[in-house]
Amino acid sequence: HRSKLPDVGPTIFSVMSSLAQDQHALNLSQGFPNFESDQKLIDLVNSAMNSGHNQYAPMAGIMELRVAIAHKFEQLYNTSYHPESEITVTAGATQAIFTIISAFIKQDDEVIIFRPAYDCYEPAVELNGGKVISVQLEAPTYKVNWDEVKRIITYKTKMIIINTPQNPSGTVFSKEDMSTLEDLLRGTSIILLSDEVYEHIIFDGEQHQSACLYPDLKARSFVVASFGKTFHNTGWKMGYCCAPKALMAEFQKVHQFNVFCVNHPIQKALAEYLKEPDHYLGLSSFYQKKRDLFLSLIETSRFKFTPAQGTYFQVLDYSAITSENDLDFAKRLTKEHKIASIPLSVFNTHHLDNKVLRFCLAKTDDTLKQAADILNKI
Ligand code: PMP
Ligand code: GLN
Repeated sequence: HRSKLPDVGPTIFSVMSSLAQDQHALNLSQGFPNFESDQKLIDLVNSAMNSGHNQYAPMAGIMELRVAIAHKFEQLYNTSYHPESEITVTAGATQAIFTIISAFIKQDDEVIIFRPAYDCYEPAVELNGGKVISVQLEAPTYKVNWDEVKRIITYKTKMIIINTPQNPSGTVFSKEDMSTLEDLLRGTSIILLSDEVYEHIIFDGEQHQSACLYPDLKARSFVVASFGKTFHNTGWKMGYCCAPKALMAEFQKVHQFNVFCVNHPIQKALAEYLKEPDHYLGLSSFYQKKRDLFLSLIETSRFKFTPAQGTYFQVLDYSAITSENDLDFAKRLTKEHKIASIPLSVFNTHHLDNKVLRFCLAKTDDTLKQAADILNKI
């Protein structure tokens, strides 16, 4: 049979994490914390299981959690999503993204993405017969050239996918970026998929620019979030998305046959835990300290960097060290120096000759110090 995704192999996250394990290397490749989620939250999951919340949840998620999510949007972004019809709890952001794309993209529809781009967007578009049109963001700032975006928008453009704070580059969209996008899309029926999984990890006093803050964007947007990033439990695979009623109705037509519903006891626990804003408002300063610690430790290394503005990733330029391509260098670092990272070219059009690696900083300070010791010797 002919593969529907002939050019797709195991993702770089599987490749590098298993290489790190085989090589007993520090794993700063795949993005996940090497510290535990709050015991209070784990206890809430246990008690939800022990009190019998072990069967199917309602299709869109338990009402208590949808209400807590709606409340968070009101408090943080001063905007409302109706818990009945505009919020769906998903199996991580990945399932939300896949379902949004499946619900709207048809043969020959064009979807604009910004490269380097997180790896789950493109295959989902292709599986639905759509075509990805990329806008390249250039190191070291990875800022968008909106004139270029304007040029490539056509009558075929069905969707634009943005991701701020951005994985892997760590760049964030400013108010101007969002207003420009809002102007560009006015008068079109283009859907915006706004991947905001790092909404609570933004540095140096910047404010997260959610699509829901811009009325003309909100009206056409899916805002996608992930509990895994925010509460240090990526293995639970819990997230959600919000959109105006008509868009959400189309989403739910697919969601109900895609998973029907997601993990019930964890929803119960998150509904309770989310009520306390302190459980996520401290995250930016928590990760900014880690970024600053790591960057201060490698300041005199041969790696060059621009500090990430958000996310728990930092990209490092190794052009002063070797002319090897980034995949070869990432593998060699794992085998010979016992530190694993992600080569940026996998998020780009593969042939681009990046000399940039992505390191995950969601690690204990001790691990970050060990990582810096290694990098200083290279
Ligand atoms: N989008 C981006 C930009 C991500 O970095 C990730 C996770 N690394 C996801 C989506 C997927 O999130 P989840 O684990 O909740 O599926
Ligand atoms: N999103 C995580 C990252 O960027 C990895 C998730 C995955 O393994 N697919 O590293």
